[in-house]
Amino acid sequence: MSNPAPPKISIPAALLPSDGRFGSGPSKIRDAQIDALVAAGKNILGTSHRQAPVKNLLGSVREQLHQLFSLPNNWEVVFGNGGASMFWDAAAFGLIDKRSEHLVFGEFSSKFADAARKAPHLQEPVVVDAAPGTIAEVELADVDTYCFTHNETSTGAAMPLVRPTTPQDAIVVVDATSAAGGMAWSTSEVDVYYFSPQKGFGSEGGTWIALCSPRAVQRINQIAATKRWCPTSLDLSVALENSRANQTYNTPSISTFVMLNNQLKWMLENGGLDWCVQRTTQSSQHLYNWATRQSFAAPFVHNPAYRSPVVGTVDIDGFDANTINAVLRDNGIVDTDSYRKLGRNQLRVSMFPSVEPTDIQQLTKCIDYIVEQLS
Ligand SMILES: *Cc1c(COP(=O)(O)O)cnc(C)c1O
Repeated sequence: MSNPAPPKISIPAALLPSDGRFGSGPSKIRDAQIDALVAAGKNILGTSHRQAPVKNLLGSVREQLHQLFSLPNNWEVVFGNGGASMFWDAAAFGLIDKRSEHLVFGEFSSKFADAARKAPHLQEPVVVDAAPGTIAEVELADVDTYCFTHNETSTGAAMPLVRPTTPQDAIVVVDATSAAGGMAWSTSEVDVYYFSPQKGFGSEGGTWIALCSPRAVQRINQIAATKRWCPTSLDLSVALENSRANQTYNTPSISTFVMLNNQLKWMLENGGLDWCVQRTTQSSQHLYNWATRQSFAAPFVHNPAYRSPVVGTVDIDGFDANTINAVLRDNGIVDTDSYRKLGRNQLRVSMFPSVEPTDIQQLTKCIDYIVEQLS
């Protein structure tokens, strides 16, 4: 909609980041993950997912996720094909018993609420709406499932995860697609923490992973026992059974697991989740401090407590964000665009663990340089 050709601006090499990928998913993939893929080419890629090499790979991912998130022994790591969006449908069949509550404060949280609203076997969900850039607050209600979003990738707002006090047997299901690996949380506040691997884990899309508490496993089994209709490909009890055997119901993307496995190893070798959170905190503090300082920029999320450490949104004033993004792209810095449907004059920057904090500093220098040239 904006100007057809961006002005030719060449950013000095000294200001450029070491890697120009700042997309919120798919996100930057580290070189070592690609190396792992090449190494797997000889013995894992192109081989049966029902044989030991691939089963061991899935087992290693499960084991390392247990470690990264310090999961209690009775938690389970469950896999399925289709990504987080497919998990919403699986949850509408196999986690929500009768009625759910959804905190909606952006595009992704609203899509899960829609899935529950459309499911003919469920009651009308309770939906608590809040404006983009803020977070929605729990309203205690007679529901069996509370649905939260740890980080709203569309707006850059992140919510604290706290278990509602009632009803006592309600489960807490958290969309952690972009938060997982870059934000802290406590297993005592959550029953299901699900995500796709193409965001904080720098792998590829098309797979969902759900970390499940014993209460969640009990819910899955309890609904399965009612024989309520559920497509087999979306059946969480089938996914659970397969995952326990280091399998998926149907053929998984093996390369996705290879790159995820390498990322988990890298995170754990460097100090685990604490280290990852230090990195995302360092990156995001720089971004938000910079945006607060500059006259042409401001953090979109007003309340500092809800500013995401992993996906930063910055409103731009007096300059066209599309022009800034186009110039960045011309210089090899990509995917800093605002979430389309939000329709704001905004930059959005991913600060997942793979992104070097020094590259966030370089990125802001690049933006300063472009704005200087445009002034
Ligand atoms: C990206 C994203 C999704 C959708 O993930 P897919 O893997 O594309 O299905 C869902 N929720 C959140 C919070 C996301 O960031």
